[in-house]
Amino acid sequence: MSELAYPYEAPASQALFDRAAAVTPGGVNSPVRAFRAVGGTPRFMVSGTGPYLTDADGREYVDLVCSWGPMILGHAHPEVIAAVQEAVARGTSFGTPAEGEVALAEAMVERVAPLEEVRLVSSGTEATMSAIRLARGFTQRTKVIKFAGCYHGHVDSLLAAAGSGVATFALPDTPGVTGAQASDTIVLPYNDLEAVHAAFAAHPGEIACVITEASPGNMGVVPPLPGFNQGLKDACAANGALFVSDEVMTGFRTSRAGWYGVEGVVPDLMTFGKVMGGGFPAAAFGGRADVMAHLAPAGPVYQAGTLSGNPVATAAGLAQLRLLDDAAYETVDAVSARIQSLVTEALSKEGVAHTVQNASNMFSVFFTDRPVRNYEDAKAQESFRFTAFFHSLLSNGVYLPPSSFESWFVSTAHDERAVQRIADALPAAARAAAEATA
Ligand code: PLP
Repeated sequence: MSELAYPYEAPASQALFDRAAAVTPGGVNSPVRAFRAVGGTPRFMVSGTGPYLTDADGREYVDLVCSWGPMILGHAHPEVIAAVQEAVARGTSFGTPAEGEVALAEAMVERVAPLEEVRLVSSGTEATMSAIRLARGFTQRTKVIKFAGCYHGHVDSLLAAAGSGVATFALPDTPGVTGAQASDTIVLPYNDLEAVHAAFAAHPGEIACVITEASPGNMGVVPPLPGFNQGLKDACAANGALFVSDEVMTGFRTSRAGWYGVEGVVPDLMTFGKVMGGGFPAAAFGGRADVMAHLAPAGPVYQAGTLSGNPVATAAGLAQLRLLDDAAYETVDAVSARIQSLVTEALSKEGVAHTVQNASNMFSVFFTDRPVRNYEDAKAQESFRFTAFFHSLLSNGVYLPPSSFESWFVSTAHDERAVQRIADALPAAARAAAEATA
């Protein structure tokens, strides 16, 4: 790593990273934070306000990660902070039912029509893991269809990734996941309904559910083609399987009712996280009441959590959801559209092949001029250009996700000043992308 490759060094962050590496594997508590895909020193942040983050070296960045989605009102929104302070003063965890979790569940059910009942958990991983268990318990079947490039958290059976071709049994994608766990997962190419029909035909009566990101954002932003989600729903209904829509990323972000609110396809089960927790560990799964009735203590499928429905997390989530009115979504959508067009303009000016894709206000840039419909397409981009683009923006005070396979996120707090900073930084970044070599 030459200094030239990373024009701005971050000594305080580097010192923290060195300390972290001595006590934490790879120096981070979630792999993407380590900057391995782009190189250089991960920035250790000390504070966030509105659209800005400040790192340990005292540098301020316009944040286009927003904690990977949750901070849709920006950092330290005064009303969310006030709700948290009020809740915290009453105690941080009771291990009993409390009104806040009822209010949050009611707010979710009111916004998302297919959600008849909700169970609160603490992470998106827990939500998808529990939804899969429930789908298996309800259908008395074992196999699960997922799509290559869709991420549903680090659930053992869902880490099985791209087995190529139709209805191929996946191999474990990571040591520690057994062949048995992986072999119950069928991995198919995204946006390929024929592959789904073939998998159902090859495994009659065996498939418990199809799980998909409502609109994928974990291979970059790759929206479903028209009719894809409806096709999944219909295939599930025709074959006695459940359709599980993972809205951990899209939920309460892509609209007031998440991706469901954009497309209107009714899933049997849904999963949530991120925005609904207001920056705290809160997540959920829910859906059809007759399916949810199989969950303990109402039914036999076990699921539990010491901190589930935590009073501080539910207070933060509820405050955030209440602030997210139609005007808030209009603001986020508009600022997202502005930034998308600024990126397009800057890259076009330098003749850099690129495709900007969006799912309402979620968006990402692929360094290819072809539309990206699935994981194979996403992998075919020129990721080395992203690395140069990323570091140029970082050194000019714009914080992008440190990988070309991630969605970018904005908030209601991204105002003119923040957008102008991005606009000012983009020409040099586009030049860096144009000059980059593999
Ligand atoms: N599902 C989707 C679509 C996600 O994007 C993520 C995380 O990014 C998860 C599930 C897992 O959520 P968590 O990181 O809270 O476990």
